[in-house]
Amino acid sequence: MSTNDVKVLILGSGPAGLSAALYAARAELAPVVLTGMQLGGQAALTFTIENYPGFPEGVGGPQLGELFQKQAEAFGAKVEFDTAYEVDFSQRPYRVVTDSGEYKADTIIVTTGASPNQLKIPKEMELTGRGVSYCATCDGWFFKEKKVVIVGGGDSALEEALFITRYASSVTVIHRRDEFRAGAILQKRAKEHPKMNFIMDTVVTELVGTDKLESLKLKNVKTGEESVFEADGLFIFIGHTPNTQMFKGKLEMSELGYININDKMETSMPGVYAAGEVADPHFRQVVTSAGMGAAAAIQATRFLETESS
Ligand code: NAP
Repeated sequence: MSTNDVKVLILGSGPAGLSAALYAARAELAPVVLTGMQLGGQAALTFTIENYPGFPEGVGGPQLGELFQKQAEAFGAKVEFDTAYEVDFSQRPYRVVTDSGEYKADTIIVTTGASPNQLKIPKEMELTGRGVSYCATCDGWFFKEKKVVIVGGGDSALEEALFITRYASSVTVIHRRDEFRAGAILQKRAKEHPKMNFIMDTVVTELVGTDKLESLKLKNVKTGEESVFEADGLFIFIGHTPNTQMFKGKLEMSELGYININDKMETSMPGVYAAGEVADPHFRQVVTSAGMGAAAAIQATRFLETESS
């Protein structure tokens, strides 16, 4: 197994990882980015990104990822199509085992992101980006005067449903129980909104559509009654899972599994930083993740400078 010695190892290639790479590369630290399973992260799965500054006409998610990568590589970052599966923080340099080898890294920037939970029903994957979305801020605008369904009963579902009422002609929340998990104030606001409707005790069993979403097959969990609901858009908000399995017991985390960081992106281990959604349950935007990535790299640079002085 080959071992590579690096000053800065970045785990993940979303906006946080590639921005960290750009800053670390410009500090002449020759960072290595391990792409993980999804080059470009979640942003690369978004058809068009219209809220990243500098692109008044919008930019394709994959295209933005390519631009991030090109810019980081232009300054000496190396992007490897490789995935880390084990870390050892017991001594420095830290050891990271990947699909194709092993790294010894003086500093590590964790940008492994989070994955929106999926319903895991037929056609969900095929219709993602074609009517099915996991991000209201990214995609709500596409549903102007359209009929939209939200699945979920937590704060995210009701908050995002209220956000989508700005665009959609109607927003129907489908929840698997007869009570929402969301807080009372959000529930009140949602129930009082004239564009909002609710279908309770109901699950979505299947999606229908070829090029785009056409309808949803529903099942009432109490009566067993099945029905079909026509809709142009489906937003799924049934929780996110940060991709932190590998760091359990090694970095301090919140109850929800997000890596705890301070305002310098420092984790509980010296020289290990985290940025983007893996450490951010609140904003989840390309621009905020990119900013966190840049901050993490600046801090890693200072850490290495202090060590060598
Ligand atoms: P959440 O609170 O875990 O709610 C997830 C919702 O999805 C629940 O209603 C759950 O149903 C439903 N669900 C889960 N799996 C499902 C499945 N397979 N099929 C159908 N429905 C499913 O997640 P969240 O809303 O993303 O919130 C996460 C955390 O962030 C919470 O602590 C929340 O309070 C916080 N948050 C706060 C705010 C705010 O304060 N403004 C905004 C957003 C999020 P059950 O209820 O039946 O389990």
